[in-house]
Amino acid sequence: MNRKPVIAIDGYSSTGKSSISKDIATRLGLIHLDTGALYRGITLYALTHCFANGAIDRNCLISSFDKIRLEFREAGHVLVLYLNGKDVSREIRTQEVSDHVSFVAKQPEVRDFLLKTQRDIAAEGGVIMDGRDIGTVVLPDADYKFFLTASIEERTRRRFLEMQASGMEADIHSVRENLIKRDRIDSEREVSPLKQAEDAILIDNSDISKEQTTEKILSYIR
Ligand code: C5P
Repeated sequence: MNRKPVIAIDGYSSTGKSSISKDIATRLGLIHLDTGALYRGITLYALTHCFANGAIDRNCLISSFDKIRLEFREAGHVLVLYLNGKDVSREIRTQEVSDHVSFVAKQPEVRDFLLKTQRDIAAEGGVIMDGRDIGTVVLPDADYKFFLTASIEERTRRRFLEMQASGMEADIHSVRENLIKRDRIDSEREVSPLKQAEDAILIDNSDISKEQTTEKILSYIR
């Protein structure tokens, strides 16, 4: 059989999962799906339509799924996220979305809503998906599984520089606090928590570059 592989990349926030996955997709001719973008897309919808008294209204959100149309459109080997027909790839990266996304992502109804979309995309093979529960829940039968981690100092530095480079307002203290808070909520939630799959290969990339991490992953796949 000549089916292209299905690869799962999970790990902590700002370990470079998405850009590394994007590079691997280009090198191996796979489609890359950044599943965090889906949770961010729903969060953006919730902040616009279900935000009251400084918080997202859970009931409003879970009764709105039929009004939320998330689609990925192909741009090269990258999939760009559209929310109700609008390219939201930039808006989903703001600090405001980052501040609320883990609350949205811990709602079981939200996870159910997104599960089928993710599995449908992987059904044909030839995909690399990055997230928090890909190797454990979304694609437990993936051909290859990796779990990325790095020190909080290094992850804060990377995220801060990334935000600055894309012209977004960034405060290093808030970036650090947000990473710590998200990792905590993501790891402690009841449904599909962030954790390493038993059969995933652990890579700590605190002291190695994204390029070196990519090479390391490719060396296991080859
Ligand atoms: O990958 P990214 O940092 O953009 O993900 C944003 C948030 O989306 C995570 O902090 C987490 O709350 C949620 N997420 C998730 N499961 C995934 C991918 C992301 O819960 N598979």
